[in-house]
Amino acid sequence: MDFQNDDTVGHRIKAFTDRVSMLKANDMYFYNQPIEEIRGGAKVLVRGREMGMYASYSYLGLVGHPRINEAAKKAVDKFGTGTNGVRTLAGSLTLHNELEETIANFKHAEAAVTYTSGYVTNLTVVSTLMGRGDYVLSDKLNHASIVDGCLMSGAEFRRFKHNDMEDLEHRLQQIPSGVSKLVIADAVFSMDGDVIDLPKMVELCKKYGAYLMMDEAHSLGVLGKTGRGIEEHFGLNDVVDIKMGTLSKTIPSVGGYVAGKKDLINYLRHASRAYIFSAALPPAQAAAANEAFKVILDEPWRIEKLSQNTKLFISGLKSAGFDTLLTTTAIVPVLCGSDDQAFIMTREAQRNDVFVLPVISPAVPEGLARLRATITAAHEPSEIERAMDVIVTAGKKIGII
Ligand SMILES: *Cc1c(COP(=O)(O)O)cnc(C)c1O
Repeated sequence: MDFQNDDTVGHRIKAFTDRVSMLKANDMYFYNQPIEEIRGGAKVLVRGREMGMYASYSYLGLVGHPRINEAAKKAVDKFGTGTNGVRTLAGSLTLHNELEETIANFKHAEAAVTYTSGYVTNLTVVSTLMGRGDYVLSDKLNHASIVDGCLMSGAEFRRFKHNDMEDLEHRLQQIPSGVSKLVIADAVFSMDGDVIDLPKMVELCKKYGAYLMMDEAHSLGVLGKTGRGIEEHFGLNDVVDIKMGTLSKTIPSVGGYVAGKKDLINYLRHASRAYIFSAALPPAQAAAANEAFKVILDEPWRIEKLSQNTKLFISGLKSAGFDTLLTTTAIVPVLCGSDDQAFIMTREAQRNDVFVLPVISPAVPEGLARLRATITAAHEPSEIERAMDVIVTAGKKIGII
């Protein structure tokens, strides 16, 4: 059947197809550009050209690390390439238990459980814990996987203003007594790069008897002196009930985890559908993730270098006149204005071998389209200076600064 019919689905697909054709004709289509090779942590080959990589989540530059690659290869030799089953059947390997123990230790938690992606982790954990009659309070800028988990749970879903603790308190006060409440937020926001006000959030959760869940996709390995994340960043000890994170960003693997109290984790193992009905992490990915946590502890210079690189980039762009919102982390929004301005900025940057990507509406509000640049420990300061020159020159040419 033709999907350009005269109905709503047909219209939607046709409008989209036309928009994509127009963008392609103007060399402004940047979706799914294949990387041909990764050279070191911060350089990639795209369309036959070597570019500086400013869109990767490999915050500590661990992708391709010899120790991690070696661990993955050993796991393949020993266990093969698949798990051929869910954890509760043939899928549980000693590698999974080792990885979960490593995560629990890293997060200073009693136990941890892993799933096959961060997205699935949020879906299954929120919908397993919460249900009809319960209340979930979610930051307005939370990741799509959290939103989807909340919707799937069937709980009352309330969104509070971004990082606004007064609004959160107001909403907590409106919840009737005697029901379960969960407050959930990204630790570092994936589009803006700012950090959640955890101390105040903890105080409110205690005051109103709510559970607290943090998504550490962009804070693991980034925040805290030893990269342990948001609690370490604020000097708080075990204040988050449900410590969620992914194994696909700082950790160069794939998967998601939750760390927390033993009883919670054991309950999730028995009750969460993604654990029971979806295959276990493949051996190479489990082993790679396990080794990556150890490398983070053995090579603390990476965290320090990431922090220096981030400061260099943010302060340079700000002093050139760019608006980078409230970021203090490795995610740096470089505001451009309209969607088209963000596309043109991207085109200019990529033509000058800086691989950066745009974020446009509806992922961010209209008028706040941006480049979302990411900085890693694999960048050299001289490379960052060059990338900034390219971005600043483009910004002036287009009239953004
Ligand atoms: C990337 C991301 C996820 C999903 O993780 P995957 O491992 O890529 O599925 C969840 N939450 C946040 C905040 C993210 O940025």
